[in-house]
Amino acid sequence: MSLYMKQIEQLVTLQRVDDEIVKLEQTLEATPKELARLEEKLQTLLDQEQKIKDHIDILEKQKSKLETDIEADNSKIKKSKNKLMMVENTKEYHAMLREMDNLEKTNRMREEELASLAEDLQTQNNLLQGVNEQVEKMRAQVEDKREHMQSELKEADQQLSGLHDQRENAKEVVPTPILKRYEFIRSRLNNPVIVPVAEGICCGCNISIPPQKFNELQRGEQIFNCPNCQRLIYWEEHFPKNGDQ
Ligand SMILES: [Zn+2]
Repeated sequence: MSLYMKQIEQLVTLQRVDDEIVKLEQTLEATPKELARLEEKLQTLLDQEQKIKDHIDILEKQKSKLETDIEADNSKIKKSKNKLMMVENTKEYHAMLREMDNLEKTNRMREEELASLAEDLQTQNNLLQGVNEQVEKMRAQVEDKREHMQSELKEADQQLSGLHDQRENAKEVVPTPILKRYEFIRSRLNNPVIVPVAEGICCGCNISIPPQKFNELQRGEQIFNCPNCQRLIYWEEHFPKNGDQ
């Protein structure tokens, strides 16, 4: 393989390596962010869960207070009923009846309140169950992400150091001025930096190379830039396989 061909080959490798480095660096950045996003979602669900639990607590307390009151008044009514048999004074008798009547009325209202409380409790418990399920799912997702993150990051780090080695090797073959041109284009243009020319057309910008330049390119002696987009170019027939990359 001629030196020119080796240089082109290494430039293409360099570009592939640089693309992979960018991708890996994005992964290294994105993974912890993704975990943080999941943790935030979990926290929101846990807050929601706590709110419902607090609400249920209040309802349960109201319920048990009502039940205690009902029981207390029921035993009062029972006692009064027993006493009623022994009352001889008519006035006293009526007074007791009225009192019992009031107690029963109050308890009936309490029973109605209890029934509506029971409905509220049912609604809140259903809500809680739904949120519980979501919490468990999200918790599993967070755990899964946490576990995978460590190995993912470790693997990416290893790949990165391997790629940096490949990059150094590629750089050794490419002459410094060409390398500087490569870095310059890379810092300014969208990928790719080095592109094939197919049937006289630059694959970077889809514009024709002047015939004179195209002839020189086909000779394969010197590394050229596309006169239009400034990307480094090579004739695709020199590297039939790389044309698809
Ligand atoms: Zn071009």
